[in-house]
Amino acid sequence: MASCQRILCSVGSCIYNKDKDNLCTLDAIQVSAAAKSDSGAPYDETLCASYKAQVEKK
Ligand code: SF4
Repeated sequence: MASCQRILCSVGSCIYNKDKDNLCTLDAIQVSAAAKSDSGAPYDETLCASYKAQVEKK
């Protein structure tokens, strides 16, 4: 497989985020729309489904 793109990400609350470097440490991520989303807005249609919180809040 060809080398992977870098995934730039600033979500510091994710365990896969290398905060100081603005980088995701995964080789690939899953991007998905929010449930029942049909707005066409990026914040509804393009959520990172690979996100995992550093601190469990629920
Ligand atoms: S898994 Fe998603 S939210 Fe977490 S660092 Fe990677 S791109 Fe960012």
